[in-house]
Amino acid sequence: MTDTLSHAPTSSTSARIVTEIPGPRSKAMHERRVKTVSAGVAATFPIYAASAHDAVIEDVDGNRFIDFTGGIGVMTVGHTNDAVVHAVADQASKVTHTLFAVAGYEPYIEVCELLAKHTPGNFAKKSVLVNSGAEAVENAVKIARKHTGRTEVAVLHHGYHGRTNLTSAMNYNMHPYGTGFGPLAGSVHHAPNSSPFHDGLSGAEAAERTITFLEKRVGASQIACLVVEPIQGEGGFIVPAEGYLQALVDWCHANGIVYVSDEVQSGMARTGAYFASEHFGIEPDLVTSAKGIGGGMPIAAVTGRAEIMDASHPGGLGGTFGGNPVSCAAVVAVFSEVDKRGLLNEAKRVEKTLKPALLDLQAKYPVIADVRGMGAMLAIEFMDPSTGKPAPEVAKAVQTHALHAGVLILTAGTFGNVLRFLPPVVITDDQLLEAVAVMDDALASL
Ligand SMILES: *Cc1c(COP(=O)(O)O)cnc(C)c1O
Repeated sequence: MTDTLSHAPTSSTSARIVTEIPGPRSKAMHERRVKTVSAGVAATFPIYAASAHDAVIEDVDGNRFIDFTGGIGVMTVGHTNDAVVHAVADQASKVTHTLFAVAGYEPYIEVCELLAKHTPGNFAKKSVLVNSGAEAVENAVKIARKHTGRTEVAVLHHGYHGRTNLTSAMNYNMHPYGTGFGPLAGSVHHAPNSSPFHDGLSGAEAAERTITFLEKRVGASQIACLVVEPIQGEGGFIVPAEGYLQALVDWCHANGIVYVSDEVQSGMARTGAYFASEHFGIEPDLVTSAKGIGGGMPIAAVTGRAEIMDASHPGGLGGTFGGNPVSCAAVVAVFSEVDKRGLLNEAKRVEKTLKPALLDLQAKYPVIADVRGMGAMLAIEFMDPSTGKPAPEVAKAVQTHALHAGVLILTAGTFGNVLRFLPPVVITDDQLLEAVAVMDDALASL
């Protein structure tokens, strides 16, 4: 019942809290939710969304929140982006579904052309379109196994790749992703990562540690693929040391291993480049993308070297909804928005405004141990300054305080002691600084 609500938020809207949080309508919805929605689906915030635009979400009680979660890095081009909304409505009135394998349609091909153009690497590329990030990772592994004739899969500590059976096995954190859901897929090997703030290793040293582990514990000749997030997302926006990723790519290529860059979170303009791999100068064999590419519509892709992508026999890849025409139309609109509105530069502007403000907070509050990330993918990590131990209770307290002040922020990190910021890149400087002021208040009150 939206009749009593004010107009949907606009680009420049500030946070506005008009009820207790959660408000009465959100509370009533929550009561209905718990009766029929599986308890396995988390409820991070107790609010229910009614409308959203750019970087602001308005809940069913008329409270307005500055959105630092961006639907977990999905709403890069902004909530209800006009170009995306228009493209979706237009495509929905033409063709909503045929199954691409039954009757093809142009938007699927257009998306594959755009991905071939904008993923890193100057070589012939092909794609397959699927429905979710986890499904993209599953398909990248399938393709790498078929191409190499090998079985083993290598991943890194603190990585996250999804919630299907195989990808649950590829996650670092057993809880909540794997506990009790086993047996999880086998043939997955977890190697040490590079986390310069924590391990103090150079890129070369960290790469040697990763490679030695894989050579000794698995054997390079057994490995079909190494799957790596260029900047680890759920793990806490861990940016690897310089040269680390390139050393892994070189090792993979010397040993016939397919290097897969999991860009589901870091891809599509999020970090100020189309794909974060570019910042590290690497050319992955395969790239997985999802979250940000559809502007809020569900779609994902595996893109990579044509000769690897063609390893599967016809019929081996795909699925009923993969590359749905309405989702494809949204992707085409997202690419066009990034280009037309200079959203790579907007992501850099977010960093330019937000990072110094976070460093100022760090100077004020020694519990902030680290400020890191790139573009509109930034994070702060909390550690107890006296013990050096992770301080998840501080992250949680700031998150709760911010919610009540009208700012939505997600936690991250293996120890839950990281706050990560994934705002739409169209967020204004005023909104960014308003949210930082809320975090400042929160930390001052602790
Ligand atoms: C979110 C995420 C996934 C899983 O994507 P879903 O669409 O939730 O299945 C995979 N890899 C990374 C790096 C992610 O951040």
